[in-house]
Formats: sequence, structure tokens, C-alpha cells
Amino acid sequence: MTEQFDHFIDGRWQAPADGQYFESTNPATLEVLYSAARGTGADVEAAVAAARRAFENPLWRDLSQTRRGHLLRRLGDLIGEHAEELARMETADNGKLLREMRGQLATLPEYYYYYAGLADKVQGHQIPTSSVEMLNYTQREPLGVVGAITPWNSPLTLTTSKLAPALAGGNTIVIKPSEYTSRTVLRLAELASEAGFPDGVVNVVTGFGAEAGAALVGHPEIAKISFTGSTATGSAIASSAASRFIGCTLELGGKSPNIVFEDANVSNAAMGVVAGIFAAAGQTCIAGSRVFAHRSVYDELLDKVAERARRIVIGDPALDSTELGPLAFSAQQDKVNSYVELGVSEGAKVLTGGCRPEVDLPGYFYSPTVLTDVDNSMRVVREEIFGPVAAIMPFETEEEVLRLANDTEYGLAAGVWTQNLARAHRMARRLEAGTVWVNTYRAMSPMSPRQGFKNSGVGIEHGIESMNEYTRLKSVWINTDEGPVADPFVLRS
Ligand code: NAD
Repeated sequence: MTEQFDHFIDGRWQAPADGQYFESTNPATLEVLYSAARGTGADVEAAVAAARRAFENPLWRDLSQTRRGHLLRRLGDLIGEHAEELARMETADNGKLLREMRGQLATLPEYYYYYAGLADKVQGHQIPTSSVEMLNYTQREPLGVVGAITPWNSPLTLTTSKLAPALAGGNTIVIKPSEYTSRTVLRLAELASEAGFPDGVVNVVTGFGAEAGAALVGHPEIAKISFTGSTATGSAIASSAASRFIGCTLELGGKSPNIVFEDANVSNAAMGVVAGIFAAAGQTCIAGSRVFAHRSVYDELLDKVAERARRIVIGDPALDSTELGPLAFSAQQDKVNSYVELGVSEGAKVLTGGCRPEVDLPGYFYSPTVLTDVDNSMRVVREEIFGPVAAIMPFETEEEVLRLANDTEYGLAAGVWTQNLARAHRMARRLEAGTVWVNTYRAMSPMSPRQGFKNSGVGIEHGIESMNEYTRLKSVWINTDEGPVADPFVLRS
């Protein structure tokens, strides 16, 4: 018998209203890991009602901002204490390398500490008025019940990017994790309860997007939707939110350029290209999937990237020696493979990879793949593959590569490899991407705001600015003049 998990609602496990569960599988071994509750509208209803009650409960509503910070700090501590357990859980669920998960878990508590520190810095200010008797000030308030919908590629980290600021801002939350990775998010909710967050402040409804996800997005009591996932789903969610005038933060797809100039340290740049596209088997929104190399270093870069790609150790993600684990599920493997086939039919050459590698596990593995003879007009270069597939293209001039890099519907991230400081600044200024890395790739911290430009998103995650996404501003006017009102028909300010 595999373990079975209910929803986590109102501080306790609650069976799904219609009694249905679905299975989650280890993508490396294909063994069934557990089954999780298949949420429907009725479960979402129960979770939102619990979150609304918790929002109005004085235990949470009237808790000082400093005390909210204490709870977040305690949650960070608990995550640190359970780091190995959480890392192993997520590796089993989505195939991410255990060593990458250990790295993520080493820094995850810092996200909670960061927002713990911000909790009591959420404040308004006094506004000048025309008369000394009139006092005008602003205050920042929580929004209410936040609906959070998250993907499978980094469930703990991407949920944290929503959960921590939502709680710091005094909201309550209902989280719908990806149907492929329910386990660690459920554990996170349990830890939040253990940390002392009152019942109903953190709720998790598991299940499928079209069922539990859509019900959450459409629920009239939800004050805001915070979503990370594909651009197609994000667009549908934005339309639904707009029809009810509620806000949404959307972190969506990408097709990020990684640009290597002739003056770069080519060895380091090659490792940056490898990290950008082969880490996490390319299943990251920020994957540097479009690589542009200056014509004079193109061959050298190609050799170095291909040589390292061929040496990547593929296998069980739980082993320390493994460098590339499986893709997260079968449809993901089919998608990657069909994109490579499409690329070849468009004229691309497969320099290395392009197939399932020899691995003594039955899972959804795919070789690190380098495509050449590609150009920016091909679908394989324009569309997000979300797998370990790099398209490498030569360029001649800075202007040309800027035009090519920006010629995409996405605008999530970009990498630049150069030793020319002026060029680095020029590129940072002109690249249409929410994050630009120079001589590095994939750097990230809770302190650094990130947002997707163009079709890569709406709103900001991380950084001080993210608190504005989870609070609203109110303007309060107080007349301290107790004398008679001289003229009721004249505006006062
Ligand atoms: P997805 O859009 O298929 O699913 C994301 C979540 O939305 C899941 O929980 C899913 O169940 C839910 N969902 C699906 N349809 C829904 C609907 N109609 N209504 C409500 N919820 C619905 O995305 P995915 O395949 O899980 O994740 C991969 C995508 O996420 C990629 O495009 C990737 O680039 C993106 N992503 C972006 C970031 C970022 O920060 N920008 C980070 C990670 C992943």
C-alpha cells in the first residue's frame, strides 16, 4: 500500500469531498510514491472558507507584525531542521538532483528569515496637507485570501516565493500545487502549522489544474491569484482575474538568451552555458536555451559545451555523482523529443544528444542535447521546450545580437559573457529581460526582485517590492479641527 494524503485545510488533514485520489510517480524509477486527494470545487470551497475565517480571526488579524515575523522565522528554522527529509521528498517526486535540492534547502530558510524581517517594515507614511488641522496618512493592509498555484519543477522554492510574502503581509493562503508534485507542499503546510500559524492561515488543496486550479482561480472570495507556470495557463488566469478586477502576480515561461562575446573567458562561458541549459535537465523557467556566440569564438564554445555535455553523468538523481536526472513525467519527455525532431525537420543538426540515453533505470531520461544550424525563426528556437536542449547560433556584431536576443515573445532572463565593462552595462540596459546576469547564470536570492517582461509575467517576486504585491494601500484623512464647519460645499485638503 502506498501512502495516501488528504488535503491540508484548517490545520488538519481533510479527505476530498468526492473521495477521489490520484497517484504520483518517481520519474527516475517509475515506482508509485503516494496518492494525493483529487481536489474539486467543494474542497476549494472548504479551503477558502477556512482561509477567510482565519483572516478574520483575531488570533491572526490582530497579531502584531513583529509576531508574524517570529512565526516566519520559526517556519524557516523548521525547514532547516527538516532539510534532508524535504530534499529527498522533492527529488523522489520530480527527479531533481538531490545535491541541487540540498543546495536549495540550505538557502530556503533564508527566504523565510528575509520576509520575517520585512513583516514589520510594511508601513504607510504621512502625506502633507494644505491645513495643519488635516491629517492624511497611508497604511498598507493585507488583501485577504490569496490563491497560489505552483508548478512541478521547483515546488518548495516557487511556493515559498508566494507563501512567505503573503504571510508577512498578513494574508491567508490556499495553495494548489502541481498534480505532479504535491508532497513537499503538503509537508510545508504541516510545518507552518507546527511553527504556530493559526489553523486556516495556510491551506493546501491538491489536484489537477482544470479541476482544483480553475475552481480556486474562479472563487469569488479570492482576493488575489499568484501563479507560476506556463504562459498559456497564465493568460487564462489573468483573464479570469481581470473579469473580477482582482490582482495577479504571474511568473511564466521563458526562452532566455545566453550571449558569449569575443572578449569573454570562453571556458567560463561554456560552463555558464552548460549550467544555464543542463542544470535541472533544462526544466527551469530561466533556462538559457538560446545561445549566441560571437563568430570568432563560436567553434571553441561549441566544442567546449559539447564536450562537457557528452561527459554529463546521467542517472539516479539521488546519487551524489549524478549530474542530470530524469524529466519529471512522460509527457515532458515526449515534448522534448518531439521538439528535437521538429528542429531537425526545420534543418537543425544534432551535435550531441537528441535521444534517450543508456541508463539502467526505466525513467524519463533525455540526453543533454546541442542543436546547431539553427536560426531565430525556427520554432525550436522560438518556443519554450523546458528540457535539456540548447540551440547555439553565431553572430557578428553587438547590435545584431541585441536584435536577435530581444526578438522573442518572452523576457524572463538573459546571460552576457564579456570582459568589457562598458559592453556589460550596455547589454544590461538594452536587453528586454527582467533579470540580466553578466559572467554568471542562475544567480538568485530572496533579496533580489525578479519579474518577467513581455509574455514572461506580470508583477514582482522577491525583494522589498514584492510586499506591494501582497498588500494594498489605503489613504486615511482625519480632520482634527473641532470648530464649526465653515462651508460644507468646499473641498478640504
Ligand atoms: P502549467 O501552467 O501546466 O501548470 C502550473 C500550475 O497551474 C499547476 O499547478 C497546474 O495544475 C495549474 N493549472 C493548469 N491549468 C490550470 C487552469 N486552467 N486553472 C488553474 N490552474 C491551472 O505549468 P507547468 O508545466 O506545471 O510548469 C512549467 C511552466 O512553468 C513553464 O512554462 C515554466 O517556464 C514556468 N515556470 C516559470 C517560472 C518563473 O518564475 N517565471 C518558474 C518555474 C516555472
